[in-house]
Amino acid sequence: MQNSFYREVITEHNLRPSHKTPVDDPDITLRGVNPSCGDDITLGLKIRDGRITEGGFTGEGCAISQASADMMLDLVIGKETEEALRLADIFLRMIRQEAGEEEIEELEEAGFLTDVSHMPARVKCAVLGWHTLENMIRNFRKE
Ligand code: ZN
Repeated sequence: MQNSFYREVITEHNLRPSHKTPVDDPDITLRGVNPSCGDDITLGLKIRDGRITEGGFTGEGCAISQASADMMLDLVIGKETEEALRLADIFLRMIRQEAGEEEIEELEEAGFLTDVSHMPARVKCAVLGWHTLENMIRNFRKE
């Protein structure tokens, strides 16, 4: 059951991604690459008063990398950058099997990717978007 849900969610986000489109005039963009699989995405964000108001990604990659980036944007658009970093941290800990159940629930659909923590070969695919998001927000705040 869990497994078929997982597959369904991934398939759905690949067939009909909500955020696979470039952002017009983004405040920050960053490319993230996972050479071990060939995933190569570029994230763009608009940030107003510390809040992510728009986000999108472009690029290519496997189903997990694309679905994970799409779910991540579903989750973080409209949130403050601080909150987005907190959620990214939960996601990265979830993949290392270090997050609690309540925390995983906060990730909404992205929580289905908890199964990836049992698939070492796919971990880098799942975390690519989240690592990229973390890096770009950290760089942005330093400026
Ligand atoms: Zn991949």
